[in-house]
Amino acid sequence: MNAPRHSVTVLGSTGSIGVNTLDVLARHPQRFSVFALSGHSRIDLLFAQCMVHKPRFVVATDAQAGPALQSRLAAQGSATRVLIGHAALDEVAAHEEVDMVMAAIVGAAGLSSCMAAARAGKRLLLANKEALVVGGSLFMDAVRTGGATLLPIDSEHSAIFQSLPDDRSIWPSVVEKIILTASGGPFRTRDPSTLRDVTPQEACAHPNWSMGRKISVDSATMMNKALEVIEAKFLFGMDPSRIAVVIHPQSVVHSMVQFVDRAVVAQLGVPDMRGPIAYGLSWPQRIESGTAALDFSAMTGLSFETFDSPDHRARFPGLQLAWEAMAGVSGTTAVLNAANEIAVAAFLEGRIRFDQIHAVNQATLAALHFEPPVSLQAILALDEKARARALEAVLSLAR
Ligand code: NAD
Ligand code: MG
Repeated sequence: MNAPRHSVTVLGSTGSIGVNTLDVLARHPQRFSVFALSGHSRIDLLFAQCMVHKPRFVVATDAQAGPALQSRLAAQGSATRVLIGHAALDEVAAHEEVDMVMAAIVGAAGLSSCMAAARAGKRLLLANKEALVVGGSLFMDAVRTGGATLLPIDSEHSAIFQSLPDDRSIWPSVVEKIILTASGGPFRTRDPSTLRDVTPQEACAHPNWSMGRKISVDSATMMNKALEVIEAKFLFGMDPSRIAVVIHPQSVVHSMVQFVDRAVVAQLGVPDMRGPIAYGLSWPQRIESGTAALDFSAMTGLSFETFDSPDHRARFPGLQLAWEAMAGVSGTTAVLNAANEIAVAAFLEGRIRFDQIHAVNQATLAALHFEPPVSLQAILALDEKARARALEAVLSLAR
């Protein structure tokens, strides 16, 4: 008899990770069925995904889009039920018939549904790094108490997870350092004095990866790596002093673990998110992902730069904010994330310059004093407060 299929909810199915997830799922119809999808914008794509994947539920988080989606699906005789609004994300993440949840919403908007999946003990595939940066130890507590299995989808964290021994209890005694690789983004070699003139289009043109706009800007400022350093601290229980970043422009080595005997284990592959997605879906097994094999005959060399020159610091000042935020009281990483979300949105809307993203993040971190949050509600309140403070910083800079 065939094994029962795993029922999967894909939150943020219309995004770059969401689309790649559905591509992998469609390669394995005997293994997986789609329980629910969600989208905020791109409702045409959400409609098309419902027609192909026939989920039981679809969540339209933007209330305006819900009714139109409902009538289009009804006109096609679709059995998919439309749910409207953010609370429905929690429902389809925690539903008793769901085995796995792909968290692929961008930003803190995905936190509540991640927490719901964690509390309900699901296999939680985490692409939505901001949710962990914001939720921090409360997020990890929910994973533990809910009995959830949290697996990283971020390529660096998937690489680290693939490089670590299976027995988690030995990680603290055998791991010396986690080394995250960073491509350096589109401005690795651009004259830093011209960074003030960067346009949103230039910032979103990543040399190696095709991604959503927010993470593309984060990759250009190196705030993506800052968020990933924080993500690594929580995911792997690693002291911040043991997390390092190395620039590796080819994006072939996805990250590395250095052990106490100085052996370094790395994971390699072409830059294609379907690799880490397939690993999360199939772990501890492996399945075909659609990713091309590395072509060693075409590889012209792998290079690495450590992150310690004055040029790097001037070019990517945001990276250091990760360690500053981790040294602060709990909740400081949530403040940094909120500031950055506001700053990136303001940059994409043409309200501030590229180099002012860092100024907004710094100003918000410096200005906000707060009690460490002890509940999801308190975190969301802090997130809101930090956004308001960051908006003030944007307004004071806006052209
Ligand atoms: P994207 O912008 O392409 O997609 C985001 C998804 O979230 C879409 O489905 C969108 O409709 C939904 N969404 C946006 N705002 C929302 C809101 N307020 N409420 C509910 N849903 C909302 O982003 P992406 O590139 O797919 O990235 C998704 C997440 O995965 C991010 O956290 C990103 O950092 C992480 N990630 C992405 C990649 C990548 O290659 N794209 C790699 C590693 C990690
Ligand atoms: Mg990454």
